Amino acid sequence: MIVAVQPLAGFDKLLHYRVPETLRGAVRAGSLVRIPLGHRHALGLVLAADALPEVPLEKLKPVTGVLHDHPALTPDLLGLARWMSGYYAARMEAVLETMIPGAVRDGARLRQDKYLSAGRALAAAELAALVRKAPKQAKLYEFLRQQFRPVKKSLVLSRLGATAAVAAALVKHGLAKEELHHIERVAYADGWAGGEVVAAQPPVLNGEQAAVVDSVGASLARGKFAVHLLQGVTGSGKTEVYLRAVEAVLAAGGSAIYLVPEVALTPQTVARLRGRFEAAGHRTVVWHSHLSEGERLDGWIALASGAARVVVGARSAVFAPVRDLRLIVVDEEHEPAYKQDETPRYHGRDVAVYRAKLASAVCLLGSATPSLESVANVRAGKYRLERLTRRVDDKQLPDIQIVDMRIEVMRARGLVTLSRLLVDHMHQRFARREQTILFINRRGYSSSMQCRKCGHVEECPHCSVAMTYHRADETLKCHLCGHERGAPAVCPSCVSPEIRWRGLGTQRVEEAVRRVLPRARLERMDTDTMAKKHRFRQILGDFRAGKIDILIGTQMIGKGLDFPNVTLVGLIDADLSMHVPDFRANERTFQLLVQVAGRAGRGDRAGEVVVQTFTPQADAIQFARKADFDGFAEAELTMRRNFSYPPYRHLIHHLFRGPNPEKIRFFAEAWVKKVEAALGSAVEIRGPSPAPIEKVKDEYRFQVWYFTTRTPQVVAALVKLEREFRWPDGVTQALDVDPMSLV
Ligand code: ADP
Ligand code: ZN
Ligand code: ZN
Repeated sequence: MIVAVQPLAGFDKLLHYRVPETLRGAVRAGSLVRIPLGHRHALGLVLAADALPEVPLEKLKPVTGVLHDHPALTPDLLGLARWMSGYYAARMEAVLETMIPGAVRDGARLRQDKYLSAGRALAAAELAALVRKAPKQAKLYEFLRQQFRPVKKSLVLSRLGATAAVAAALVKHGLAKEELHHIERVAYADGWAGGEVVAAQPPVLNGEQAAVVDSVGASLARGKFAVHLLQGVTGSGKTEVYLRAVEAVLAAGGSAIYLVPEVALTPQTVARLRGRFEAAGHRTVVWHSHLSEGERLDGWIALASGAARVVVGARSAVFAPVRDLRLIVVDEEHEPAYKQDETPRYHGRDVAVYRAKLASAVCLLGSATPSLESVANVRAGKYRLERLTRRVDDKQLPDIQIVDMRIEVMRARGLVTLSRLLVDHMHQRFARREQTILFINRRGYSSSMQCRKCGHVEECPHCSVAMTYHRADETLKCHLCGHERGAPAVCPSCVSPEIRWRGLGTQRVEEAVRRVLPRARLERMDTDTMAKKHRFRQILGDFRAGKIDILIGTQMIGKGLDFPNVTLVGLIDADLSMHVPDFRANERTFQLLVQVAGRAGRGDRAGEVVVQTFTPQADAIQFARKADFDGFAEAELTMRRNFSYPPYRHLIHHLFRGPNPEKIRFFAEAWVKKVEAALGSAVEIRGPSPAPIEKVKDEYRFQVWYFTTRTPQVVAALVKLEREFRWPDGVTQALDVDPMSLV
């Protein structure tokens, strides 16, 4: 047998190897294998088994080993790898390294530990007998029966003061099971849910939910590829619909992948999945960035072997090697976090749809504010639209009030952080012991500093972006390259002491709130405070327990949180996301408003939302006020069509960078001429032009945009041209297909 292998060793070429007799049957397409490569041994992935050799058989070197009992890539994942490599213009090796976790590639000889779990259940009389005869065994038995998942043997024994003999006796009688696991510590083992009590008992679906579950269930039963887009207002019970779909898949013996934008921000979702499925005996693998190597390998093996059939995680969980994939859920499908910003620059949602297609599975996308790409796919008849138009139990959607900050500033004759309306509302909530969340778009005390007299803004000398002021250590920091310097006391340009802080940060809002409500208990959540481990969980737990009156945070806390006692949400500066040079700015602003508003009034009392803005007439703000997604989508799609922006055409970004700007511009211009000649009307080209951030880490950046309706062909042509083009030293370039951010 001859196999075609992609080495994973910085060697971007397909090679052929023969499989020795001893490894027959173990090596398949998708297997991770050890191969000789030159004078060393390397790792490789079998892309095709029974491949045709390019050289005589006897000249082929042999595969020397196989890692893992199961192929790293299932057939659908192999197809997905090929598609990603082509569509995203990424080397096959880079794609495979993204799809297969490091812990799996290492095949790391990780330490295994002994774990105990419950075995056969005893009848009451038998248990009573055991308690009399062997109280220590009974104690261990009862402890194990209360656990959701295997517990580390050494830990349990020392905690219960039992010996290994006690455990051995239980195991001998089938009352306990002992297994080896790679787990070093079980992620989310404490079942933490921000203090929420997770009901394993599913609620009775309302009519709308039942209709969606039926529709998705029908697709699952057909066993063919289908995409459903669930557009449901915040709090309409979308998660419950996802859970039912997963349940149906498990009942039919299949596997499901459940994607969330970020696991750390969705502890409640993870807890609900575990509460529901682990109680029913299905292990749920949680896939996130903080797993130890051992945990990752263990979870991966559980999925590859079929021992676990549900995985929840961020975008890379879309590559889980599950068996018999039937369903991929993509929660908050509009989130830009699904796009990876390094090679391969894939979009988790789009990859999910494509994988579902390859696996003949169902893809269920959901959001209160679907992306316009998905809306366009519904209109084109590719996706099926499902709607949840009401909140569960007919709770009211919050009332959104817009404050015109131009008037506030005029009245106050100066900078205003909190409008009078917002302050009034906060006073009321505080008096009624209800909770408030204030959202801000930025981090730090204020993002940049600007001189009142000469307008000077302090920029990073390496990156041409404003530096961020950090009050804690009185420094200015660059968010792109990390450059740091002390904050100046006077304007570096005109020496005026009148430097003012532009923009509002969480600390500034915190101070403003302390002035108006000195007795309120405040907590601030931003990337700075969250750097401390477990702080995030702790604050959310305290907030749920009512120990905090007002929570201030960046929009990172706006996702998916469900606190019943929050009746007021304030958005301090709605404009920030609107004044960026990106055609998606309106869409982002609309999404931000709807999502943060969705945090209010999740309990029995109706919620109110106060939005502060300098441009109250903007479409995004007006449609969000009316919670009119369809109206917004219509207006925005019309604009996009007029400009032939996505979703009407695809966009490809080409970045050129290097230390010498003249050289880059010269070659980028030559390149564009070449593309024009080769591709003609297949693309519209814009640029080269300096990138919005002209310089990063002392490298100048230029960009070219391609607009096209024939993405795969154009990408393939660009890659081919790129190989032929004579690039000079000192100019690096990269393609980004379907970029999600233009700045
Ligand atoms: P969404 O994801 O649409 O924002 P969730 O699924 O989080 O909404 O639902 C909001 C709350 O309503 C959750 O606490 C959930 O447990 C509860 N819930 C969902 N469906 C029902 C139902 N049919 N009956 C009662 N409560 C429900
Ligand atoms: Zn100045
Ligand atoms: Zn910098």
